[in-house]
Amino acid sequence: SAEEVTASYLETIGKSCINGFITTWDKALEAARGIDTGGHEGPLAGVPIAIKDNISTTGLSTTCSSKILQGYVPPYDAHVIEKLRAAGAVILGKTNMDEFAMGTSTESSYYGATLNPWDAARVPGGSSGGSAAVVAAGEAPVSLGSDTGGSVRCPAAFCGVVGLKPTYGCISRFGLISYANSLEQIGPLATNVADIATLMDVIAGYDPRDSTSINRENTYSNAMKDDVKGLKIGVPEEYFGEGIDEDVEKLVWDAIGKYEDMGASWKKVSMPHTKYALASYYIIAMSEASSNLARFDGTRYGFRADGDNWHVMASKTRAQGFGEEVKRRILLGTYALSAGYHDKYYLKSLKVRTLVKQDFDRALAEVDVLMGPTMPTPAFRIGEKIDDPLSLYLADVNTVPINLAGVPSISLPCGFVEGMPVGLQIIGKHFDENTVLRAAYSFE
Ligand code: GLN
Repeated sequence: SAEEVTASYLETIGKSCINGFITTWDKALEAARGIDTGGHEGPLAGVPIAIKDNISTTGLSTTCSSKILQGYVPPYDAHVIEKLRAAGAVILGKTNMDEFAMGTSTESSYYGATLNPWDAARVPGGSSGGSAAVVAAGEAPVSLGSDTGGSVRCPAAFCGVVGLKPTYGCISRFGLISYANSLEQIGPLATNVADIATLMDVIAGYDPRDSTSINRENTYSNAMKDDVKGLKIGVPEEYFGEGIDEDVEKLVWDAIGKYEDMGASWKKVSMPHTKYALASYYIIAMSEASSNLARFDGTRYGFRADGDNWHVMASKTRAQGFGEEVKRRILLGTYALSAGYHDKYYLKSLKVRTLVKQDFDRALAEVDVLMGPTMPTPAFRIGEKIDDPLSLYLADVNTVPINLAGVPSISLPCGFVEGMPVGLQIIGKHFDENTVLRAAYSFE
């Protein structure tokens, strides 16, 4: 029964030592019982799910792993949560993440780092590290994360699970606490591609409360009907640049070889603006973040510091409530948007963004999908990069271009290097998730 399944996951979570969940839902068993007694027939009836802590859930605290949102309980559900509940899913709890989704390792959480289930000395990736780690550790069968510049795909790659960043506009962001809203999408994580498609059938779709939501019907689970005979693969040489681990590179080429054996063909393609994507992404993401995070001033949500007047209270709340990385990004973003520098940094980055998107349009006009490594290396060690923000940013080199362009991309396991999983990234045309899913499914 749904109750037994939920109880068994809650028991596993209770014994966990990876710090993947921040909170578990105290009404999960009750909700599961309701599914059983009500004879719910939804597509996810009784399926437990873990939710990243930046997705709003009524009655269940939502903190973005930040002290500033400590104790905040949203008065409404995100669009995806409404859809999940209606489909019969049982929310297990909220997962750990980098504070406000800013990071690649889940080390910047106010609640401490999440550990990689394959090796507890290593990071699970980020920022949806909790969502990937709990699926890898068998603490939840499926989860939701959010991907602004790789935050679903990176932890999927580092934890050996499957993670999809859907096309921008596919899934409503209503109720997702914004970090950089022109870049981010909610995305599912699971142990296999079919589960990703099933989740997409439930959570994707039009929502008038998100002005970037697109009205477009699609049945994602139809994607797995055909094989990859005749599929045209493009391999961008720029995704195998400086800093890529040789063994990771070899595994990706082995995977491409396997596609050739299955009847697909491949050719090299060039995406010349890739080298500017990282700089453009970080300027745009930090600029949007500096504006989005202005709303956290102690007046409305969560944590509030003492102060004799509003100005003192707000400034102390922000000083004490935000962590170091969040403050760094607010400062840099504010600088990039300020008068005199706006054209030089922000506007320039938007122009670069268009060039990056045109690279994708050109490459994807010739082939069906693009393939490359999700991350340049397997999971690094906890503490290895956290004091050097630039080296952390550089790890996102193969994931951020996809968000600048808004195209869909999946990461799926393609082998191991020194006992750690490696992710193959498959990128598709706008709204062509089904080709991406079909390609990923054939590989499993
Ligand atoms: N690592 C990237 C960043 O820090 C991506 C994060 C994300 O996708 N939320 O911005």
